[in-house]
Amino acid sequence: MGRYTGPSCRLCRQVGEKLFLKGERCYTPKCAIEKRRRPPGDRRQTRRRPSDYSLRLREKQKVRYTFGIMESQLARYMGKAQLQKGNTGQYLIQLLERRLDNVVYRLNFADSRKQGRQLVNHGHIQVNGRKLDIPSAILRPGDQVTWKPQTKEKEFVKELTASGPKRTVPGWLNLDTSSLTGQVVTLPEGTEVDLKVDTRLIVEYYSR
Ligand code: SF4
Repeated sequence: MGRYTGPSCRLCRQVGEKLFLKGERCYTPKCAIEKRRRPPGDRRQTRRRPSDYSLRLREKQKVRYTFGIMESQLARYMGKAQLQKGNTGQYLIQLLERRLDNVVYRLNFADSRKQGRQLVNHGHIQVNGRKLDIPSAILRPGDQVTWKPQTKEKEFVKELTASGPKRTVPGWLNLDTSSLTGQVVTLPEGTEVDLKVDTRLIVEYYSR
């Protein structure tokens, strides 16, 4: 599956807000949004009022950039969410949040989702005691996520254990900091997901 390999900060500037794609740098004054909020290539001083379509497109792009997925993948997730009865936007976010690379990020095993994807791709992560190197794998309640035993001996994992989690682990996950094992406790609900996206606009975008 293809993925975007260009500059991450460009994506934040395109949607005009922080998407926290680069780990620690996002919390420093070096953040490109702190320095220059204008979209890439936009030198105009005045802006037209955004159309309804551009607002919906922007919300959709925010989700796509945040989770580092391609258009076709997001359309597939939306197709799955639309098959469920109830709140389509919530089902969509539940699917995205339960991706293995996102769970690795949420458990503080990685500084960013991009790094989470790399750790998974390189076989450092086990799910239910077996190596799983598919970042898009969707986890279910009860699934356990941990490091490969050999990786646990590496210096960066030892530092992680010593320093403890940098970000709050959401309530739908449980992290045992001594064994560095995480578990999906339940499905992520709206209030536990700290994403600033209007899922209603995304659903409207795909209902055109
Ligand atoms: Fe976005 Fe982080 Fe770059 Fe800031 S530093 S623009 S939040 S990726």
